[in-house]
Amino acid sequence: MTTPDWSLFRDGLTAWYAPDRRPMPWKGERDPYCIWLSEIILQQTRVAQGWPYFERFLAAYPTVAQLAAAEDADVMKLWEGLGYYSRARNLLRAARTVVADHGGRFPDTYRGLLTLPGVGPYTAAAVASFAFDRQVAVLDGNVFRILARYTADPTPIDTGPGRKHFQSLVDRALGEAPAAAFNQAIMDFGALVCTPKSPDCAHCPVAEGCRARAEGTVPDFPVKGKAAARRDRIFHYLHVTDARGRFLLHRREDRDIWKHLYQFPLVERAALDLRPPQLAAADNWPAWLPFRELEVRGRSKPYTHQLSHQRLGVVFHRLYWPAPHDVPDDYTAVSRDGLGPYALPRVITRYLGDQRLTLDL
Ligand code: SF4
Repeated sequence: MTTPDWSLFRDGLTAWYAPDRRPMPWKGERDPYCIWLSEIILQQTRVAQGWPYFERFLAAYPTVAQLAAAEDADVMKLWEGLGYYSRARNLLRAARTVVADHGGRFPDTYRGLLTLPGVGPYTAAAVASFAFDRQVAVLDGNVFRILARYTADPTPIDTGPGRKHFQSLVDRALGEAPAAAFNQAIMDFGALVCTPKSPDCAHCPVAEGCRARAEGTVPDFPVKGKAAARRDRIFHYLHVTDARGRFLLHRREDRDIWKHLYQFPLVERAALDLRPPQLAAADNWPAWLPFRELEVRGRSKPYTHQLSHQRLGVVFHRLYWPAPHDVPDDYTAVSRDGLGPYALPRVITRYLGDQRLTLDL
């Protein structure tokens, strides 16, 4: 194997870079708070989806001190719909750490930034280079893909040794180039040219040195090891309303998906096509909910909801319980108009907005 020509790569990429090619509200930003906020929002989120959230957060909490002083529930509510809610919890924890342990100023080194909750190598590198001109290269899915193709390197990218290997490649690729410009260029290049599905090799500024292109093997890279196992789950939500039209919600507390979001009483089963009498016979039907006092009023269409490693099938059962009693303390009766303070998983918001219930009982 010949050694990749990193100077060709670095020069081609930085000459190609033009800030306006991919406008984003945080581009060129030097304030570590804005950079960190945008990076946390954009983890596992498309730019188009994350952009309005970034603007809303910045409007609500213009400084890290204001975010640190926010109520947890307000932040979760503002985050509603973005998914991966552990990011919102870490956002708050990190803001509070910056205020409590660093006098309200972000650490200005890569290693210092890594100590903040929710800040991994990629975010630390982005903040360190953009805000503090530290000589550190970003490594994310885009960068893995670009480097694997450029070098036609078959090392699997999703293993510990693979990650180390590609970190050393990106460090060599960066060399002595200014890290902020290089990092911004490689991010834009991955989003606009060397894209996952159809890379634009004909207009690629580094095509000359790209080994996968020369060998005609671009679709073979990057190489992945074992794909993470996906878990399928079925949720039956009980949309229980009382005589005043209020329904019961409680906050998820388990170490599971959607921690701290609100939901209806839930019966998780292996099958989707089940009716309330069958659910009521299950061990995990809420013991405090007397099925004989419920009037079954309908069932929603099935919804699917995709998470990173789980796929949920979700059905909502409309049940009328005119006079609830002995409801556990952690449940709250909420009217549709009073939903404001409660952050809900997106699938429940979709259902409540939908109202197309199939009355097929
Ligand atoms: S030539 Fe194609 S595969 Fe190679 S770096 Fe450029 S866009 Fe990516």
